[in-house]
Amino acid sequence: MSNVDWQGKHVTVAGLGVSGIPAARVLHGLGAVVTVVNDGDDERSRAQAAELEAQGITVRLGDGDTLPPSTELVVTAPGWKPGKPLFAAAADAGVPVWGDVELAWRLRGQDGREPAPWLAVTGTNGKTTTVRMLASILEAAGLRTAAVGNIGVSLLDAVLGEETYDVLAVELSSYQLHWAPSLRAHSAAVLNLAPDHLDWHGSMEAYTADKGRIYEGNRVACVYNAADPATEDLVREADVEEGCRAIGFTLGTPGPSQLGVVDGILVDRAFVKNRQKQAQELAEVADVNPPAPHNIANALAAAALARAFGVEPAAVRDGLRNFRPDPHRIEHVADVDGVAYVDDSKATNTHAAEASLAAYDSIVWIAGGLAKGATFDELVTGCAKRLRGVVLMGADRALIREALARHAPEVPVVDLDRTDTGAMSEAVREAARLARPGDTVLMAPACASMDMFVNYNKRGEAFADAVRARAAESV
Ligand code: ADP
Repeated sequence: MSNVDWQGKHVTVAGLGVSGIPAARVLHGLGAVVTVVNDGDDERSRAQAAELEAQGITVRLGDGDTLPPSTELVVTAPGWKPGKPLFAAAADAGVPVWGDVELAWRLRGQDGREPAPWLAVTGTNGKTTTVRMLASILEAAGLRTAAVGNIGVSLLDAVLGEETYDVLAVELSSYQLHWAPSLRAHSAAVLNLAPDHLDWHGSMEAYTADKGRIYEGNRVACVYNAADPATEDLVREADVEEGCRAIGFTLGTPGPSQLGVVDGILVDRAFVKNRQKQAQELAEVADVNPPAPHNIANALAAAALARAFGVEPAAVRDGLRNFRPDPHRIEHVADVDGVAYVDDSKATNTHAAEASLAAYDSIVWIAGGLAKGATFDELVTGCAKRLRGVVLMGADRALIREALARHAPEVPVVDLDRTDTGAMSEAVREAARLARPGDTVLMAPACASMDMFVNYNKRGEAFADAVRARAAESV
């Protein structure tokens, strides 16, 4: 269906929302007969529906499970669970289902322009950071590019908007990959795999398989994490174009066809003339911001994709140097009385928190929130030796407290028995009391924020406000 004749085609868009509304508009503009179906029927969706209906798009509110009879194609919001009756009805009727990524992929070149190739990134953690690093590197190489997907420019805008791109750096979630059967990236990376969103996918196997789709049909390189064999297994299982290579990244010395680190230098032993004997310097570890181990892994993955696209080493270095991390991702807020305060509010699961806890030697850890079914034994065991103390807050803090009692009974724990927003000031005060000069107070909650805050941004801001208030007091 790549050059679909959309004129008069009956398309059902599942879900009003960030992907559904633009999809409905674009398809209507191409001449399709669009019906939007939506579960909710609240005030907001009624207002959105009224706007779409004024343009000639049909909207059915409060009925997201019934497939309109004449439907020839369903375009779904990526978050809709595969088990929904609408999809069973589509399968019974032999109607294909596309997600937002599949739609954007199929619409590339629709306007007659040569479509930009995609360099795609997925993984449980580090996607946004890696895609932004990659875009920064591609820009440093003088290429017209954008970071797209869950961030920055929307995919539909990137493929159909006025801007012309040489290449796109695309972040893809497991949901999006699930609904993107024909996506074929130039090259792609799976950064890591840890249990997440299992309620949506049904099992770790299904989640892993959806992530693995990113490698299907790759032309130049499938980039995997040498420290995470499951990512390499996915490369082996993928059906790729003839000549496409498996490229590993490692925090250690790289083997042939890998990128890695030697004596504080990021080196490439994959895209060099003689990879048995040669390695090419790309950048220094100090060029990576911040130079925490997991972030160096992200930088190597971004470098591998850029090198697969033919980018020169100097541009990798410049792009990494120009890169500034997004807020709330291991963000250094302030030093107060010789103690560094770091906001990693985006560490909303244990795998992410593990990465930032590994980056510091002596830590007062602020943790807790909504655990989303996670267990904390492994996380606590891994960092116990580096903990000066712990301050706990939030709904599921008892789970972390119990893991600490089992694996780090000597570490002092302050348990804040409150879940109100003001708890963050008290947490920072208690952390400051526990910390010694040279320590890092790290807010990496390993939990979601919604028990106390609107989202992880607000949680991070509350932490930064409390730290700045302390800094002002200590002057
Ligand atoms: P995503 O887009 O996958 O959610 P982000 O780049 O926004 O990833 O980072 C989310 C969180 O994951 C951050 O808090 C960071 O500490 C952690 N993180 C980033 N990169 C990695 C990595 N390679 N491995 C593990 N954790 C990571």
